[in-house]
Amino acid sequence: MRLFTATLATETNTFSPIPTSIENYREGVFYRPGEHPTDAPRMCTAPLMVGRARAAKEGFELIEGSCFACSPSGTTNRADYETMRDEILDQLRKALPVDGLLLGLHGAMVAHGYDDVEGDIIERARAIVGAKCVIGVELDPHCHLTGKRVSNADIIVLYKEFPHTDVVERAEDVLDLVLATLRGKVKPVTSVYDCRQIQSYPTTIQPMRGLVDRIKAMEGKDGILSVSIAHCFPYADVAELGTRVLVIADGDKKKADVLATKLGEELVSLRGKTASPSLPVAAGVSEGVAFNDLPVVIADPADNAGGGAPSDNTDILLHLIEHKVENACLGPVWDPIAVRFCFDAGLGAKFGLRFGGKVAPTSGVPVDAMVEVIGLKRDASQSFGPTQVSVGDCAAVRVGGVDVVLISNRTQATGLELFTNLGIDPAQKKIVVVKSTNHFMAAYGPIAKKVIYVESSGPLRRDHRKVPYTKVQRPIWPLDPDAKPRGLIS
Ligand SMILES: [Zn+2]
Repeated sequence: MRLFTATLATETNTFSPIPTSIENYREGVFYRPGEHPTDAPRMCTAPLMVGRARAAKEGFELIEGSCFACSPSGTTNRADYETMRDEILDQLRKALPVDGLLLGLHGAMVAHGYDDVEGDIIERARAIVGAKCVIGVELDPHCHLTGKRVSNADIIVLYKEFPHTDVVERAEDVLDLVLATLRGKVKPVTSVYDCRQIQSYPTTIQPMRGLVDRIKAMEGKDGILSVSIAHCFPYADVAELGTRVLVIADGDKKKADVLATKLGEELVSLRGKTASPSLPVAAGVSEGVAFNDLPVVIADPADNAGGGAPSDNTDILLHLIEHKVENACLGPVWDPIAVRFCFDAGLGAKFGLRFGGKVAPTSGVPVDAMVEVIGLKRDASQSFGPTQVSVGDCAAVRVGGVDVVLISNRTQATGLELFTNLGIDPAQKKIVVVKSTNHFMAAYGPIAKKVIYVESSGPLRRDHRKVPYTKVQRPIWPLDPDAKPRGLIS
């Protein structure tokens, strides 16, 4: 038995001012066959790692293709996408005959000329491998679960957790189902329900926590092989954006239809009820300062690099400085030039630095301040569940009572190392501001005595009615308040 694996992934915010080229992938995940590190999966490469670990035991040969992935930002350069895609497809052609594919994709990648990148990849792969090959795909729940993908893949499994702490477990699920299908033990049939809504669904809080736990308990019983909820990725202007439910049953399409409909209707009943409310910056900071324990974690989801934002909005930082808030830390602020200046100035230096507020109108104004360089680290990284995320060279500067982490490789706050790398202990801070929507909860949730969401003027508007969509199919809630679910679409 021969299985081929490859990864081509990013999450594209088509409204982001930061273009994406092959250079971003080179700085992120860029491994040719055999080059992937052995320690841990990188973004979207869990299928390769799981395939490697199980090939010998399970009696299959794993043929490794290239793995390309980068942090979320704007639309990927067309020629660069085609170059990376065609490299993988050429490897697949050379690997023939193959019995199965394990594709680690994201699900919300857009390239110029390709609104449905994953659909394009899976469709071209199908044309190469033929109808009998079992195509298994792992996707992020912040994806556009398009008809083209569903009709060309046999098995699609999405991460269930947000924060995405289960990327390895779900890759195991993809491999389990691909192998069971190839061995004739199961016959996967898929149903998809379209809820016609745009919403955020953190699974660390109710009601999603309970729903995810119930879904997990359904799998492997009564002919249900897999259940996935495509949350949607709200910051893309593509036709098939929106929340969808995908159920894979064993040979019984009716059963898949019934469960997808039941879960889809439940999600429709949860419109407006799955995410924490956001406070204005001043109100959120005041509430944090008034709280009588520490640390209070304040999230800035509107400037989350994980959704394609620049991560250099200064609203909250300026508020902390102006109101002389003490014992606070904030990060990450993406500003490679300011990091360079801090290294040039040296540890302990006090100097005038301009940082943040640079990339776009949604970045706010730059901070001009006398800073003290309190930490410097080259080529640093932070953890995100089982994976490692590079932050590049980074620096910490103290401005009044606020320690600010500046980074060179744009990414959101996921691990405590973002601060501890530079000698800042977030557990001992009164206020910890993180630029992230919900992934921070995996590491910061356990230390936080309180979590507050505030709405800065960053580009990821939590009120999706303010996102300037032109291509998204209508009606859709909340843009169209009365949008009815479309129901089963496959
Ligand atoms: Zn995601």
